[in-house]
Amino acid sequence: MRLEGKTVLVTAAGQGIGRAAALACAEQGAHVIATDLDAALLDYAGAHGAGQVETRKLDVCDPAAILAIAEALPDLDGLFNCAGFVHHGTVLQITDADWEFSVMLNVTSMLRMCRAFLPGMLRKSGSSGTAAILNMASMASSIKGFPNRTAYGATKAAVIGLTKGIAADFVAQRVRCNALCPGTVDTPSLRGRIAQADDPEAARRDFIARQPMGRLGTPDDMVPMIIYLLSDESRFVTGQALCVDGGVTI
Ligand code: NAD
Repeated sequence: MRLEGKTVLVTAAGQGIGRAAALACAEQGAHVIATDLDAALLDYAGAHGAGQVETRKLDVCDPAAILAIAEALPDLDGLFNCAGFVHHGTVLQITDADWEFSVMLNVTSMLRMCRAFLPGMLRKSGSSGTAAILNMASMASSIKGFPNRTAYGATKAAVIGLTKGIAADFVAQRVRCNALCPGTVDTPSLRGRIAQADDPEAARRDFIARQPMGRLGTPDDMVPMIIYLLSDESRFVTGQALCVDGGVTI
């Protein structure tokens, strides 16, 4: 019961890493608010282990919706900003619209989520110990360069900067902020990217080949680090970008 008594909100909790995180947080005793743009993916409200999952539609690109949900919910102990998008292409192929969309979904949405929920987290951290924000970054082209990931890498590097800035500003008030940098994880969007490749078999082989452990990660491979960073076990850890990448960044 590593999150017993805590209230944790997860974005992009409809599938992939966000969904695994939401279910795992509930199993560890948290009251989870699982949110996603696609409400149809949030079909798992109810009791999970010792915790409870409540589901809400939330488009993190909608600033009014962020303010409304922050107003409606109780103060949070944990916020996992998971939503993000992979743009495929080099700097020569990125249109201004692609760039602006990547910045909006991958970075600006996290800034707005943090700004909306931080006041409540500061109240919580004052009374109950520590509150924790976890921002989803990536090792891809933010820490280690990969082809066709310029917009993605730039925005995920910005997530790490945002994380360190928040961590530095609120360390004395015991709100911690860390970033998770996964390797390549087998999720619906990865499968979609593989399916769209000219040669899907070769694309899958290439994704696996860049993983030194010889396999893709799974959402469950991410869960222990997510629980650690949202729980008080990581009470002395803030401002860090933690890689869970199967050895890519050795
Ligand atoms: P995914 O991409 O398969 O699913 C993403 C979810 O986000 C979907 O449920 C979708 O409905 C939701 N979503 C999309 N736009 C949204 C919006 N505007 N507001 C709210 N929700 C929205 O999931 P994934 O592959 O686990 O990726 C989740 C995060 O992990 C992303 O930030 C991604 O960049 C990051 N990440 C993924 C990998 C990987 O290999 N899968 C690696 C490193 C980092």
